[in-house]
Amino acid sequence: MSTATLTEAPVPTLSLADRLNAVLQNQGERTLGLLDRCDSCSQHAQAEFTFLLPQNDGTVTESEIMLCGFHTRAHVAAIMERNPVGVWIEPSILWKIKGVEVPKQEHAKSGDGLTDA
Ligand SMILES: [Zn+2]
Repeated sequence: MSTATLTEAPVPTLSLADRLNAVLQNQGERTLGLLDRCDSCSQHAQAEFTFLLPQNDGTVTESEIMLCGFHTRAHVAAIMERNPVGVWIEPSILWKIKGVEVPKQEHAKSGDGLTDA
C-alpha cells in the first residue's frame, strides 16, 4: 500500500512589489489619454487593467478597469490577485508602495538652457 502524498509542489507566489516591478519592466508606452478617466472618480486614469469575463453563452468578453493614482494604490493588491490579462500602470504613481522600483524622472536638461546646443 502506497501512501500518496497530498502535498503538491509549492506554487511560487510573488509579492505585490515583485509583480508590480515585472509589470513596470514589461509594459509599453502610455496609451491612456486625457479623456480616459478613473472608473471610481473623475480624475485622469493612471492605470488600466484588462480582465476576461466569461459570459453565459460560453464566450469571453474583454473588459477594462481604469483607475486614477489614488484608486490604483487603494485597490492594486486586490486587482493583481485576480490575475488581469493586461496591466498598464503609470510608474510614478507607485512610488509609495514599498519595494516597487519606480524609474527616476529625467529632469536633467542638456545644454545650458539658453541655446539649442
Ligand atoms: Zn479615482
